[in-house]
Amino acid sequence: MAELKPYYIGAHVSAAGGVENAPLNAEKLGANAFAFFTKNQRRWDAKPLTTKSIAVFKERCARLGFSAEQILPHDSYLINLGHPENDALTKSRLAFVDEISRCQQLGLKYLNFHPGSHLRVLSESQCLQRIAESINLAISETDDVVAVIETTAGQGSNLGYNFAQIAEIIDAVADKSRVGVCIDTCHIFAAGYPLTTQLECQQTFQEFADLVGFEYLCAMHLNDSKVALGARVDRHHSLGKGEIGLEVFRYIMQDDRFRGVPLVLETIDETVWAEEIQMLRGFAQP
Ligand SMILES: [Zn+2]
Ligand SMILES: [Zn+2]
Repeated sequence: MAELKPYYIGAHVSAAGGVENAPLNAEKLGANAFAFFTKNQRRWDAKPLTTKSIAVFKERCARLGFSAEQILPHDSYLINLGHPENDALTKSRLAFVDEISRCQQLGLKYLNFHPGSHLRVLSESQCLQRIAESINLAISETDDVVAVIETTAGQGSNLGYNFAQIAEIIDAVADKSRVGVCIDTCHIFAAGYPLTTQLECQQTFQEFADLVGFEYLCAMHLNDSKVALGARVDRHHSLGKGEIGLEVFRYIMQDDRFRGVPLVLETIDETVWAEEIQMLRGFAQP
């Protein structure tokens, strides 16, 4: 029997001062996974990564034991791969290719992104097709990196708020080896998937298995939610402090399908991240 992979647990850490600082910030938390932005997430433009920065990032990841499968870079919030207007769509597509290239330069495996928004101009299915086309274009212009679609809360006109939509995007991606999924517990709960009891978790993740499949699961965002089930807004909370409660995190840490992929906290109080990571590790003990 194949050896079980470890649970990779971490948080979305700061890369202030350069991407090479992200692994140090993760190490301080006692994490064995991390997420970060490879550029300022609220700006379009970014200076290219320097050779020095890339080398130091790689050296630190190697020294601290972070392999590519433990690291989940997140793209800019400005990118909308389903934008209804052609100029804006082109701008997003170029920026997305640049994001993938930065990940490639850093020797990384994944790029986590939000699928896109129809802005009440396109129909949902038109927008999903446009998103898939954007992914296909980006894949054809880059190598290796897996485009990891994040499930959303369905706030505004954001798509990806149910597993059927994620499956529809994946269906239309030509190279299935370059596409995957990141489930955000806060987002799916806000989108209407119950997660407060073991039975609800079992049913929700069974629905994911049936509609998408765990072979596409590349990462998880572990967040509690400030808002109620189905509220369709994106408001993260610390684990156990929100409407979801701790049961789903216990469930995840005892289900082998969540091993071997980055499990990333994006909870609101970073002063308790180290404790949250310890608590999650505790849940994983038999
Ligand atoms: Zn995200
Ligand atoms: Zn998230």
